[in-house]
Parts: sequence; structure tokens; C-alpha cells
Amino acid sequence: MEQKVSIAIDGPSGAGKSTIARRLAGELGYYYVDTGAIYRTVAYFFDLWGVAVKDIDAVTRYIDELTIGIEYDDEGVQHMIMNGMDVTDDIRTQDIAQKASVVSAYPVVREVLLDMQRQAARAHNVIMDGRDIGTVVLPKATVKIFLTASAEVRARRRAAELQAKGQKADYAKVLEQIRQRDHQDTHRAIAPLKQAKDAVKVDTTDMDIDQVVAAIRKIVDEKVGK
Ligand code: C5P
Repeated sequence: MEQKVSIAIDGPSGAGKSTIARRLAGELGYYYVDTGAIYRTVAYFFDLWGVAVKDIDAVTRYIDELTIGIEYDDEGVQHMIMNGMDVTDDIRTQDIAQKASVVSAYPVVREVLLDMQRQAARAHNVIMDGRDIGTVVLPKATVKIFLTASAEVRARRRAAELQAKGQKADYAKVLEQIRQRDHQDTHRAIAPLKQAKDAVKVDTTDMDIDQVVAAIRKIVDEKVGK
């Protein structure tokens, strides 16, 4: 089987990973795998069944009841299928994001999802975004990017994104949630968010989307060839 190209984009929430990855995947004709959506689906499953995500014993006991599918529509948009139900839109709330950050610290959850993510990269050329793609999921990724920005700028972007979708978003609250998630994601014992040694850091604080896409495209073209 021909060797697939994999581009790993890691970084904290709100750095612009998904927007950038989706654009680049479209330009390059690669699959975009949003791994945060997978963790959100796990959190949504437990939430729906009234299991507190802080209850690690219950999460461990019921995780086998969950089946997760990833499908792509004609526009290349990733859909999350939870036990046969499309939950793509339901998982996009701040509450589910916080709960995803809690369940993602459990080894049992990370183990279940690891194979699924690696499988996708074996089958297709991928751009995968998350927290541990370059460090754990695809340590041999062709290109590794660490995308970051100040917490204030990330909170401003996230609040605008939520408001555009008609959700309530208070800047101060979003900033507090982003800081809390940064802390949880960087301090957990297993697969914490950190820059891989061989990743290129791109700080997007003072960049717009076009500039970020162009900067990353340049790094990818240099590594992969046009
Ligand atoms: O990227 P997104 O905000 O959708 O991710 C939700 C949560 O899922 C993150 O805060 C993080 O705790 C977890 N996550 C993870 N590893 C990944 C992707 C997401 O732990 N590769």
C-alpha cells in the first residue's frame, strides 16, 4: 500500500485548528479528521444517558455501549455518528466541550479512540487536528504543526463563532472556560497537550485566516512537495 501523507495540527482550543485544517484539506484534497469531535461525542453520549462525566467508574463501565462512526458528506464535512444517530450539531456547545475535556483525561477513553484515529490515517491522506496527534496518535506524521494564540484572542474568536451560530456567548465566561480547558488539557497525566519536538509552532495571535493558511501551506509544500 502506498505511504499516506499525514498532517498533524495540535494546539489549544480556539487557536483556529479546525478552520485552518478544513481549508487546507479542501485545497489538498485530503480527509480532515477533527479528533476533538470524537471526544465531544463520548461526552455527549454520557451526558445524554445522565452519567456524570466526573464518575470515572461509570464511564469505564458503560464505554462499551458506545459506538462511534465518522462519515463524510459530499462537501467533505465530517459527521459524528453516535450509536447510529448523527450528533454533529449537538456536540458543538461549551458545556459538551468542558465535559469532553474531563472524559479525555481517562486512559480507558483515550485507548478506545486511539485505534480509530490511526485507522483513518492508514486509509487516507489526512489532516488531523487535536491535542496529541503529533505526540501520540501519529508520531511519524509527515508534517507537524503546533497552532497557538493568546488566550484572549482565542476567547474572542470562540465567542464570535458561538454568537454567529445563535448561541449565547459572554466573552469573560468564554475566556474563563478556555483557561480552564487549557489547564486541564496541559496538566493531565496521559497525552497532555504539548508541542512535539519536531513540530513547527505557528502563533496566530496577529494573523488572519488567510495568512495562517498560507503559512502552513508553505510548510506543507516544502515537506510534501507541490
Ligand atoms: O478541539 P475541541 O475543542 O473540539 O476538543 C474538545 C476536548 O477534547 C479538548 O478540550 C480536549 O480535552 C479533548 N481532546 C483531546 N485530544 C484530542 C482532541 C481533543 O484530549 N486529540
